[in-house]
Amino acid sequence: MSHAPDREQPPLPAPPSKRRAAAAKPTQPGPGCGRPVAVVGAGLAGLACAGALRDAGREVLVFDRQTEPGGRCALIATPAGPFDATGAGLRPAGKAFAAQLQAWAEAGWLQPDPQQPGHWFARGSLQALAEQLAQGLTLVSRVEVRALQRRDETWHLETEGPLPVDLAARVQQGFDAVLLALPASAALPLLGDDSELAERLGGTGAESVWALMAAWPQTLPLRADRLDADRLAAAGAVLSAAWREDSLPGRPQVSGIGSRWVLHATPAWSAERLAARPFDVAKGMLEALQAAVGLQLARPAFALTQCRPDTHVAAPLKERCGWNARLRLGACGDAWHALKGSEGPERAWLSGRALAQKVLAG
Ligand SMILES: Cc1cc2nc3c(=O)[nH]c(=O)nc-3n(C[C@H](O)[C@H](O)[C@H](O)COP(=O)(O)OP(=O)(O)OC[C@H]3O[C@@H](n4cnc5c(N)ncnc54)[C@H](O)[C@@H]3O)c2cc1C
Repeated sequence: MSHAPDREQPPLPAPPSKRRAAAAKPTQPGPGCGRPVAVVGAGLAGLACAGALRDAGREVLVFDRQTEPGGRCALIATPAGPFDATGAGLRPAGKAFAAQLQAWAEAGWLQPDPQQPGHWFARGSLQALAEQLAQGLTLVSRVEVRALQRRDETWHLETEGPLPVDLAARVQQGFDAVLLALPASAALPLLGDDSELAERLGGTGAESVWALMAAWPQTLPLRADRLDADRLAAAGAVLSAAWREDSLPGRPQVSGIGSRWVLHATPAWSAERLAARPFDVAKGMLEALQAAVGLQLARPAFALTQCRPDTHVAAPLKERCGWNARLRLGACGDAWHALKGSEGPERAWLSGRALAQKVLAG
């Protein structure tokens, strides 16, 4: 199967001028201001945290083992076009995130969900939003943080990956604070110096979910571009979500592809099939889609099945973030800042902001 390259996405607007002005105005020096802060993880939590510290005048280096920022929101590039397996929907549960989303919408980074006032879609993808949020930050990409060592009240990072020449000396000098903006599974191996933080994070649990990205040469004969809860329930407890990816705002059209869909399996169905063959999983999920819509569907021209670890946090903590002021070691991410009904992106964003405030408070 060969396809023409994706059409170029419309450019996203520049960040609001307010943010740039704030970035240029440092606040009074606080404790440890002589050394930079290391944020590990450039997902929404790390970007929120690093952006707030930068806006307050702190020097911040953001490390991520991936090439691009966005973390679990990253786009999945395929020959049938890019898939945003998160759905790019942003549904605030609380006022603070609702206000943040409104500001991003005013910057032109989000589009309203026509079916739900107050809900939004990231223009292009959640990764496109993450790239906007990363602007102006010092991102050390393709570098994995393998271990942390505290010597003489300074944090030193053991890293793997190519450190940019101009940053190597700063990394060697060490850091005032280390902030882990990571899922629990990635944070725990780095938290040896703080067993209490590790214990709290260790209790949050993570659910893996099978996701199927499928494309057809034609448009599927379905009435809606998203299956509602009743339709999903009609297929038993197999699918938790199913939507048409290429009908979301800012999605590129790909030659030869008429429709692209993303299906999520439920955590329970996924848990029973963690070691299953992707082919069998795809078959089960497509059968469930057919049962949900009551139609025999054509075989997709393209299908990619992935078991995504850490898709959902089983028991997120109510605390806004984790912060050990003595060690100057912190943690944020979607395992923190649980509000009633809040989803991962909201918890990640708010906990990153909350951790920045703790660091600035000393
Ligand atoms: C397929 C899929 C579907 C999803 N759907 C939903 C949904 O419908 N609703 C919902 O609420 N949530 C959903 N989520 C979860 C949501 O995407 C996350 O809650 C949110 O993106 C978490 O952001 P974060 O910043 O906390 O962590 P992450 O995005 O995971 O960021 C952590 C970053 O740290 C980096 N990293 C990890 N270890 C290291 C290391 N040692 N050194 C350097 N870098 C490191 C990673 O590369 C990553 O970029 C979904 C996730 C996936 C994968």
